[in-house]
Amino acid sequence: MKTIKTLNGPIAPDQLGFCDIHEHLWKSGGMEVIEDGDFAIEDLEKSRAELKSYVEAGGKSLIDMQPIGVGRGIRELKEIAKGIDAHVIAATGFHRAGLYDKAHFVYKYSLDQIVELVLAEVEKGIEVNDFCGPFVEHSDVLPGVVKAGTSYYKITPLEEKLLKVAGKVSAKTGIPVITHTHRGTMGLEQVEILKAQGVPAEKICIGHLDRNADLTYHRMVLREGVYVQYDCVARVKYHPVSDTMELIKELSKEGYAGRILIGGDWGRASYLKSYNGAPGLEFIPKQLPGLMREYGISDEVIERIFIHNPQEFLAY
Ligand SMILES: [Zn+2]
Repeated sequence: MKTIKTLNGPIAPDQLGFCDIHEHLWKSGGMEVIEDGDFAIEDLEKSRAELKSYVEAGGKSLIDMQPIGVGRGIRELKEIAKGIDAHVIAATGFHRAGLYDKAHFVYKYSLDQIVELVLAEVEKGIEVNDFCGPFVEHSDVLPGVVKAGTSYYKITPLEEKLLKVAGKVSAKTGIPVITHTHRGTMGLEQVEILKAQGVPAEKICIGHLDRNADLTYHRMVLREGVYVQYDCVARVKYHPVSDTMELIKELSKEGYAGRILIGGDWGRASYLKSYNGAPGLEFIPKQLPGLMREYGISDEVIERIFIHNPQEFLAY
């Protein structure tokens, strides 16, 4: 039977509940944090409080989208989620090229070697030190998704290699792929590369697409049969909440409700309430369903987007 891989082991898909498809509960060190300290999310107690607020607001499950080599902490994630009634899912794979120093192994190892490392995480468990040391120690947590990313209107040679890694591992194991597009660009190119590795459309989710809140472009991506991920709802620097609502309303009308996934991606301390920021992890479960109803989006579509789509996409 297909299951969804969580920190506490595999679960049956119908156990998933209300799911936020892209979050960050822990991020310590790595290039992003070096460039801007606001990206550091590294207080166990505050992250626990944030996760609790998500559950209290009606959330049941979420994916921590931190991949290999950019501050992922599998031990810390387990600590944060311990005893909280939530399904937290961890990720394998890699981010965009700009977040890896030239000295990182991603530049040095071949495609086949990196496939071997990521496959080992999918089969044995996430490596506790992100393969950055001479010792290898697999945790008991299997990743629920594999990540790959690209730059703004560009796919660098490293990014192409890492997209192929995600694709090959997904084609072999069935693990779903969630991508990072930069400002919503290169989505179609990502789909082409992933499909060429043998990944079926229903296991591909193109991330951050609403950073370019362009209905026409989203239709082009959806015609490929893949999922689109909206994850900058209420992020004023990109666009107002109403833009996302209009996108969901229109695309549902056109029959695409079964291909929309939503997350907060509150990946900065200043977005999290327990770190003295806003609007916090509670925003999506607390506000989004009600706002969607105000836009005339049916309860059936809301349930599909937050419950059934994640179940179907994440099961492998
Ligand atoms: Zn993110």
